[in-house]
Amino acid sequence: MIMKMNRTNSASLFERAQKTIPGGVNSPVRAFKSVGGHPVFIKKAKGAYLYDVDGNQYIDFIASWGPMILGHAYAPVVEAIQEYAPYSTSYGAPTELEIEMAELICSMTPGIDLIRMVSSGTEACMSAIRLARGYTGKNKIIKFEGHYHGHADSFLVKAGSGLATFNIQTVPGVTAGVANDTLVAPYNDLDAVKKLIGENKGEIAAIIVEPVAGNMGCVLPATGFLEGLRKICDEESIVFIFDEVMTGFRLSAGGAQEKLGIQADLVTYGKVIGAGMPVGAFGGKQAIMEHIAPLGNVYQAGTLSGNPIAMIAGYTLLKELKSNPHIYEELNQKTAYLHQGLEKILSNWGQPYVINRFGSMISIHFSDHPVTDFATAASANNDLFKKYFHAMLDQGIYLPPSAFESWFLNNALTYADLDKTIEATHLALSSF
Ligand SMILES: *Cc1c(COP(=O)(O)O)cnc(C)c1O
Repeated sequence: MIMKMNRTNSASLFERAQKTIPGGVNSPVRAFKSVGGHPVFIKKAKGAYLYDVDGNQYIDFIASWGPMILGHAYAPVVEAIQEYAPYSTSYGAPTELEIEMAELICSMTPGIDLIRMVSSGTEACMSAIRLARGYTGKNKIIKFEGHYHGHADSFLVKAGSGLATFNIQTVPGVTAGVANDTLVAPYNDLDAVKKLIGENKGEIAAIIVEPVAGNMGCVLPATGFLEGLRKICDEESIVFIFDEVMTGFRLSAGGAQEKLGIQADLVTYGKVIGAGMPVGAFGGKQAIMEHIAPLGNVYQAGTLSGNPIAMIAGYTLLKELKSNPHIYEELNQKTAYLHQGLEKILSNWGQPYVINRFGSMISIHFSDHPVTDFATAASANNDLFKKYFHAMLDQGIYLPPSAFESWFLNNALTYADLDKTIEATHLALSSF
């Protein structure tokens, strides 16, 4: 039997939070709306573990949605922040640190000639699209159903993840004009992309894609899909944008571009790049990037862009990732081990399931068909996921509170943590 954990302090904080914060949270997926119950309020975290305000410990499979790839409160990052904080937290003037960060990123990732720092993944994607439009002189973009590129207006059309969790299809506040410039194709469907391009000949500025989708669970690119998009973009003079906010510095030091051997024209980053500080970036080919102000006239700016504390945190983490490539090997092996363990439990359980995995991203869908795009992700059994989520939470395993989110492994996880997670899954499923 799985005992209910005591989370009374979290419950009362959630009551209090709702009086001054919309829905009690500063980002919707934290609200637990799709899985039911109230969110867990966190007090602190170290390595692979989260500690809540009721004194419970959890094995963390969210890693702040990706950034804490080497675990929480990673000592070199904490020390770097402590060292730099007394110098002031912002200057609004350039620093050498920003050059070092840019040089480091360019040395790790293929095809990045110039890179601009921003403060979130949303900003990075929004700016990349503006740049693609400014560069091509065309207005429309193609995105994929269930892919999330942040909450800028152009992207809030069939945007997966948070919106899918809340079953939001169209977003009030996004004008029809903006929505009409956003064309949507199913992921892994090249024919649908070709059809959209045929219907909008010479009007498409950019195709933006999550190379490995992570905002509808983890969904892999079909063989030839990304290569096909690359070819179409070359033929039609369309800017090909990889949204690597999730995959960047996670799938490998050079992200999905390096891992999959495909080069985009522009790439966006977030999450891991800031080691948990608010950081994003967009970069790519010189010929496109030089249209950004002050080099060109596509305007983009940020008071806190390249913030020194955020830069030293991100720089310290990226440097570790660059100099220790075995980290990716270890993460892959751990995730493969978890995959095998879960597979064994689920296959004995007797009900349909799908486990998708790429590198250190993994997800379970309770589905009797392969999950290859948004439609197949959305038709999985969400009631089962809810039950599974809560049964795991009560056993001290913190999974993403939505079936539309990938799990992110961090390298502080031990094989004992993974064994515990597999055993907890066994108990959870046999309790249904
Ligand atoms: C999280 C995410 C974003 C948005 O990043 P924020 O920092 O939350 O604004 C964009 N694209 C992808 C693929 C993401 O996973």
